[in-house]
Amino acid sequence: MSEGIGEVDGGTRGTGGTRNGEVSWWWRDLGHTASTPRRAPLPGDVDADVAIVGAGYTGLWAAYYLKRAQPDLRVVVLEAEFAGFGASGRNGGWLTNSVTGGRERYVATHGRDAAVAQQRALNETVDEVIRVAAAEGIDADIVKGGELNVARSASQAARLRSTALAEAAWPHTDTVEWDAAQTGERVRVAGAVAGLWHPHCARIHPAKLVRGLAEAVERLGVHIHEGTRVSEIRAGAAITDHGTVRAAHVIRATEGFTADLRGEHRTWLPMNSSLIVTEPLPAAAWDEIGWKHGDTLGDFAHVYMYAQRTADDRIAFGGRGVPYRYGSRVDRDGRTQEATITGLTALLRSFFPVLAGPAAASTGIAHAWSGVLGVPRDWAATVGVNRASGGAAGSTYWAGGYVGTGVTATNLAGRTLADLVLERDTERTRLPWVGHRARSWEPEPLRWLAVHGIYAAYRAADRAESRPGAGTGTAWPARIADVIAGR
Ligand SMILES: Cc1cc2nc3c(=O)[nH]c(=O)nc-3n(C[C@H](O)[C@H](O)[C@H](O)COP(=O)(O)OP(=O)(O)OC[C@H]3O[C@@H](n4cnc5c(N)ncnc54)[C@H](O)[C@@H]3O)c2cc1C
Repeated sequence: MSEGIGEVDGGTRGTGGTRNGEVSWWWRDLGHTASTPRRAPLPGDVDADVAIVGAGYTGLWAAYYLKRAQPDLRVVVLEAEFAGFGASGRNGGWLTNSVTGGRERYVATHGRDAAVAQQRALNETVDEVIRVAAAEGIDADIVKGGELNVARSASQAARLRSTALAEAAWPHTDTVEWDAAQTGERVRVAGAVAGLWHPHCARIHPAKLVRGLAEAVERLGVHIHEGTRVSEIRAGAAITDHGTVRAAHVIRATEGFTADLRGEHRTWLPMNSSLIVTEPLPAAAWDEIGWKHGDTLGDFAHVYMYAQRTADDRIAFGGRGVPYRYGSRVDRDGRTQEATITGLTALLRSFFPVLAGPAAASTGIAHAWSGVLGVPRDWAATVGVNRASGGAAGSTYWAGGYVGTGVTATNLAGRTLADLVLERDTERTRLPWVGHRARSWEPEPLRWLAVHGIYAAYRAADRAESRPGAGTGTAWPARIADVIAGR
């Protein structure tokens, strides 16, 4: 066994043992286990004004803003497992301002001003989440330290440079380009040659946010029924294994799990992402690393990583494992593959070599897990409504397809869903992602072949670009993968 961060061997390490799955370390940190009691399931058939399917951030934010706007609304949230079981309780904790799918697509369809409005709304949403958390007494370890993405090869530096130029052409992006020395002053990542930073991002503890939000909506009188799986959403009804909720408004907030709903199998592809978290690092390791301002940390690799320094001085470090399971099969317990744990651990050590040395000899990987996110065919998030018409019993709504950037967007989606339900014409309902629809994913085996081909190509491109003497251009497999992905 080596010194430093422990080796992972068959799910355990030499000392301590790496937990795998059990939803996420975030939940374990809150003492949540398989035996934690759940909220009561739906007691049978129920009438409500609004039925919300899924108790992640999307569903809970929608419930929150609906009750704030109209306290007498009867709002019921139906959750297959427990509130925060999905990506909302497992993510990397980047509360950031990304426009999922990019702004450019909206220039063609809605004009440049609409694309700018989408960006401005997401910037403001970062602060809205922080505001509500404070107002509701939710301590989610929030620190607004900005988002730093580093380049560690000539090709990554070229992509950083072109991203910086592209961002500078838009208002409200506020990106700052740093050289190697400036980047190192912020976070000392081995081999970093440049950094791109912006201020519109906060580090959060995902499970603390979703747990606090669930409690906040209950205080407002929302009923959350856990252990209640919805099999089908119809106009006017959500049909569950415990009864039917009849409601004029039914919201689908099921993100990466959407493929399991009747009629939605090819709507959004369930994509996996994995994280590891270290044990708390000793002060000597932090002296080497820096990272004092709460920035979230990412890179410009094609198969990129994302990380945060947690409130209790660990590093949570994420990236792509096995991206997709045949037939859109969805993960249940959050277990991730040993190869993914080993790969992420090696990458973490290459970022911070101190973790492989004596200064961190007592630390190891405490926990590894994965989660599922929803990917639309055009990689662009949406929120929208099918209004009741032609004698339909009600309207159905959806929000999601955030890919890997939903922590902030879910709040904007929740506020927008509330506006749509209450038929309010607002700045939000006029944003260009409202009503946006992507075509369905291809049937199998094309879907599996495409996703695995794309990620194999991105990995090959990352390897080629990190070889000594590699040029500044993006390696050709990544160019082809971009075309297949439609990005
Ligand atoms: C590993 C990982 C890391 C990520 N990191 C980041 C990050 O750092 N920053 C960022 O912005 N985004 C990140 N994301 C994405 C972000 O977490 C999601 O976009 C966001 O949490 C989506 O919230 P949601 O409520 O729409 O979906 P979810 O949180 O997935 O909630 C959906 C809920 O619906 C329930 N459900 C599903 N189907 C049914 C059904 N039929 N009946 C009843 N209930 C059902 C599920 O059990 C689940 O609780 C990450 C995602 C993953 C997986």
